[in-house]
Amino acid sequence: MSDSALMVKELLDKMGVRAAPVPVEKIAEFLGARLVYEPARQGEEVYGMLYRDEGQPVIGVNSSNHIHRQRFTVAHEIGHLLLHKGDEYIDTPKVHYRDFLSGLAIDNEEIEANGFAAELLMPREFIEKSLQVIGKKKMDDPQKIIDKLSKEYKVSPQTAEFRLKNLGVFSPE
Ligand SMILES: [Zn+2]
Repeated sequence: MSDSALMVKELLDKMGVRAAPVPVEKIAEFLGARLVYEPARQGEEVYGMLYRDEGQPVIGVNSSNHIHRQRFTVAHEIGHLLLHKGDEYIDTPKVHYRDFLSGLAIDNEEIEANGFAAELLMPREFIEKSLQVIGKKKMDDPQKIIDKLSKEYKVSPQTAEFRLKNLGVFSPE
């Protein structure tokens, strides 16, 4: 198991979270962070940020984004909070998309935070249970599985697909 996977497992055990969707806001608060939801100003492209206000971690979330994106942002900022030492992280589509979808390294910490977010939103053990429930017969229709898990875990279909490939459920193209 990776460091992130271990951390996530411990965190979920400690909080008694056993089923999807993972309550990322509650987890952030449990870790001492304050959540601030605000719509982005016009023309401003930002998903979210992590900073400190008199020592307290604050997670800012762009409330104009889709709820799936907002949940991913919270999970991503929790990743920064637990894994990294920086004072401030500002996350924009530019920082993220290339890393997340093609694996190109822009910034190692961003890749780590994305990996952590994927672990937190779709923990391996939860996914394994979900796939058992779906059953082997239906496994030959990846799109149906992606859509089903996207709803169950409250993540975007892209996040679900990426995670399933990453877990080796689907072979990468
Ligand atoms: Zn980030």
